[in-house]
Amino acid sequence: MKTPLDINRNSDSMINPAGLHGSNSIPTWQQELARGFSSLIDLFSFLELDISEFPINAEAAREFPFKVTRSFASRIKKGDINDPLLKQVLPILAESVNPVDFVNNPVGDLEAIAVPGVLHKYAGRALLIVTGGCAINCRYCFRRNFPYTDTQLSKQKRAAALEYIRNRIDIKEVILSGGDPLIQSNQQLGDLIKEIEGVSHVHRLRIHSRLPNVLPSRIDSGFLKILSHSRLKSVVVVHINHPNELDQQVKGAVSRLRRANISVFNQAVLLRGVNDNVKTLTALCETLFDAGILPYYLHLLDKAKGSHHFNVSVAECKKLQDTLRSTLPGYLIPKFVTEQAGKANKIPL
Ligand SMILES: *Cc1c(COP(=O)(O)O)cnc(C)c1O
Ligand code: SF4
Repeated sequence: MKTPLDINRNSDSMINPAGLHGSNSIPTWQQELARGFSSLIDLFSFLELDISEFPINAEAAREFPFKVTRSFASRIKKGDINDPLLKQVLPILAESVNPVDFVNNPVGDLEAIAVPGVLHKYAGRALLIVTGGCAINCRYCFRRNFPYTDTQLSKQKRAAALEYIRNRIDIKEVILSGGDPLIQSNQQLGDLIKEIEGVSHVHRLRIHSRLPNVLPSRIDSGFLKILSHSRLKSVVVVHINHPNELDQQVKGAVSRLRRANISVFNQAVLLRGVNDNVKTLTALCETLFDAGILPYYLHLLDKAKGSHHFNVSVAECKKLQDTLRSTLPGYLIPKFVTEQAGKANKIPL
């Protein structure tokens, strides 16, 4: 039902890329992004919650700003402070509790910077930090303390990054990451992807993005055209932690990707109080598959400073993994992995 409408909207924004619609028309994704919540007071009033009753961590919200799209917020249950989607974005006092093993550079990314903007940790795959920006700020983000200003791929750094990839003939796959690479315009992404296509030993393009989920209108026809006209095989890896995150709009975005012949995988993070139980994980995997997404990774929390309250012990993770094995078909079970600095791959639990 929603899909034909979405297609109309997208072709519309193609004809009119500046987004100069009349006041009654649906906003383009950029306008929608700009209209997201950056004030907790506004979000609480939207959710019909009383902000004076909740101890907000103002200091944490200054260091790593509160930010959420209206689309994601519309899937939070009104009046429920324990909603699993709300928990992912709410700066609470527990963020100031920092055990010594929760640090600023938890997975050794700083050591893996080959040239500015390029993380080359694993064989055959190079990851580009396209931008530091995101449409949503997830409180558990492992890059919440990452020095993006120095590392993200500015125009000046791009030439050196591409030169690095050209010189490493062992790189078969380029991963666009960030931040969220899809907050860039189709023009910017198209230019970058064209340069990558110019490197003949690169065969695959992977895009790590939370936008198909938090801002589904981003998957517009201009973007689909870039990928479907590319000689590179494209994979989009989305980031969905809870089945409630998949509404009709998100499912529509995923089916547009699938119809354009793009594989869609999911990576989730195991988060205390959000998805650390068999019922939720089972529902997540089944809902993902129904929407055309294969569960890929379930990451154990990276120990980033400020995220300790989301941590699930390794023993509990193992128990969850065992139980899922006895509940779900093998192809619906994501790989449980941790990331350890200096290792040649992500480490299975
Ligand atoms: C996770 C990650 C990848 C991709 O790893 P896969 O196991 O292929 O999904 C590549 N580069 C970096 C730096 C990563 O963190
Ligand atoms: S979308 Fe990804 S990179 Fe952005 S804040 Fe969330 S976890 Fe971090």
